[in-house]
Amino acid sequence: MSQRLNGIAASPGIAIAQAYVLKTKTYHPVRGTVNDIQAETERFRNTVAHAKQELQTIRDMTEVKLGAQKAEIFEAHLMLLEDPDFIDVILEKIEQERLNAEFSLHEVSQGFIEMLLSMDNELLRERAADVRDVTGRMMSRLYGDAYSTISDIAEESILIAEDLTPSDTAQLDLNIVRGFVTEIGSRTSHSAIMARSLGLPAIVGAGAAAGRIASGVTVILDASEGCVIVDPDAEELEAYRSKKAQYDLRQQELAKLKDQPTISQDGHQVELAANIGSVEDLQKVLSNGAEGIGLFRTEFLYMGRSSFPTEEEQFSVYKHVLEKMEGKPVVIRTLDIGGDKELSYMKLPQESNPFLGLRALRLCLDRQDLFRTQLRALLRASQYGQLKIMFPMIAVLSELLEAKRLLQEEKDKLLQEGAAVAGRIEVGMMIEVPAAALAADQFAQEVDFFSIGTNDLIQYTMAADRMNETVAYLYQPCHPAILRLIQMVIRAAEAEGKWVGMCGEMAGDETAIPLLLGLGLHEFSMSASSILPARALIHGLSRTEWAERIPQVLAMRSQQEITDYVHKFTRSEA
Ligand code: PEP
Ligand code: MG
Repeated sequence: MSQRLNGIAASPGIAIAQAYVLKTKTYHPVRGTVNDIQAETERFRNTVAHAKQELQTIRDMTEVKLGAQKAEIFEAHLMLLEDPDFIDVILEKIEQERLNAEFSLHEVSQGFIEMLLSMDNELLRERAADVRDVTGRMMSRLYGDAYSTISDIAEESILIAEDLTPSDTAQLDLNIVRGFVTEIGSRTSHSAIMARSLGLPAIVGAGAAAGRIASGVTVILDASEGCVIVDPDAEELEAYRSKKAQYDLRQQELAKLKDQPTISQDGHQVELAANIGSVEDLQKVLSNGAEGIGLFRTEFLYMGRSSFPTEEEQFSVYKHVLEKMEGKPVVIRTLDIGGDKELSYMKLPQESNPFLGLRALRLCLDRQDLFRTQLRALLRASQYGQLKIMFPMIAVLSELLEAKRLLQEEKDKLLQEGAAVAGRIEVGMMIEVPAAALAADQFAQEVDFFSIGTNDLIQYTMAADRMNETVAYLYQPCHPAILRLIQMVIRAAEAEGKWVGMCGEMAGDETAIPLLLGLGLHEFSMSASSILPARALIHGLSRTEWAERIPQVLAMRSQQEITDYVHKFTRSEA
C-alpha cells in the first residue's frame, strides 16, 4: 500500500520518479597519536589544497548555472579553508599534541559548529552548515572516500536526504534529478532557497520517515501541496500523471508571458509588481517577469539578528535591490515593526493590543534615531535605480507630514555633506487604516502614490485580528465594505493625478483581480509566483466591462454574492 508523507512545500511543482536515497556518512574519528608529525601535517595540507580545488570548480560551475550570488556560498567555504582560526588550530593540534589529522579536524570543527549554533544571530547559526559541509569534504578525503554520492545518480530520480548542503544542491544534475525531499529544513533553509532559484520541485522538513524510503521505489512529489506519495498504486499514478501534465503545460504557457506587458483584452495596461522581504527573493522576482517591486518589507532586515542593522548595511541591501531591478520601480517601505513582528533586541512596551499600539510609523516617529538611519540609507541608495519610499500604518495627516519632514531634513543633511541623492524620489503611503482610506482625498494632496495594504485594512475595517482563526470568517477581501473603501481611495488619488497600487494579499487573489481592474487599480503587487497567473488572467479580462459591473457589485450585500458573480464570468471565460 502506498504511504503519504507531508512536509513543507519549499519549491512548487510535481515530479514522479524513483527515489534515490542519499546516505551521508558521518565520521567518528578515533583519537590517535602520530609519530611522523611532518608527514601528518603534509597529509592535512594536501587535503586542504584538494578541497580548495574542488570548491573552486564547484563555485565556477555554480556561477554559470545559478549566477554569482549563489556562488558566494562557496566563497564562504573557501574562506573557511583559509581561516587561521580554523586551519592553523588544526595544524597546531597535529604538531603540538601529536594528534592524527582526522581527530584534530573533528575536534576543531565541532567546536566551531557549537560556537556558531549558540549565536543569537541567525545568519551566523546558518554558517554552521557551511562548516559541516567543508569538514565532510575534508574528512572523506582523509579517509579516502568519495565525498559526494550525488554524482552517482545516473537515472531519473527524486533525491531523498536528511538535508542537502549548498554544495550538494549545486551539484545536482538537473537533467536527471526531478526534485528532492529532505527530512529537516524550513522554507528559508539553504536547500529550499536553492530549489526555488533552480525551479526544482522540493519538499523540506518531511521528517525522519522520509529517510526510511527505500532507494529505487517510485515516489510522487507534489511539491505544490507539500506531500510525498511513496510506492503509489496504479490509480494514484494515473491521477498524478495527468495532474503533472496539466501543471507542466500551464507552466510552459505562463512562462511565455514573462516579458510581456500586462494589458487587458481591451488595451488597458496595469503594472504587476512583486512583494519581497529580502534580496534572496530577487531571483524569483526576475524569473517571474515582475515589472517592479511594489513592496519591500524592510523589517526582515531587522529580524533574526541581535542588533539594529547599521546605515551602511542597509544602504548596501537597498543599493543591491535597486541595481538588480535595473531602473524598474522599487517601492521600499520603511520599518513596519510591532504588531505581530517583534525584535528580540528591542524592548517594546507591553501592550494589551499591539496591533492597535505603538507600531510601524508610530514607533519610527517615537524612535527617530532608528528612522533617520533608515531614511539616510534609502536616500543614499536612491541614485542606483528608481526608488520610491513608502510609509506604513498612517492614520492621520500629521504623521505623514512629520515623516516627510524628517525625510527632507535627512536629505538636506546628506546634500550638505556632499552625498549623491536622486533628484526626484516618489514618496507614498500605505492605506491600511480605515481612517486613511476615508480621508484619502486629503492624503492624496500630500503624496505621490498610495499602496493599499489590504491585510491590515481588512482586519481594521472588520475589527477582526488577522491572526485569529476563530474570526477568520470576517477576513473578506471582496466584501462590499472593503470594495467601497478601495473605490474611495482610487477615486481620491485619481482626482489628484496620483497612482494607486495594492500590496496586500488581495492583489494576487484571482477572484479579486477583475474587480480591482474594474475599480481602476494601477499597480498590483504580490508574491512572485502569483505574477504570471495574474498576467494571464488580466490578458483575458475587459477593463471596460468590469468597470461597468462595479456599481452593481458594490450594491451587493455579501462577499459570497460578489464572488459568485465574478466566477460566473471568469470561470466561463476560462
Ligand atoms: C498589508 O497590511 O496589507 C501589508 C501589505 O503589510 P503587512 O502584511 O506587512 O502588514
Ligand atoms: Mg500592513
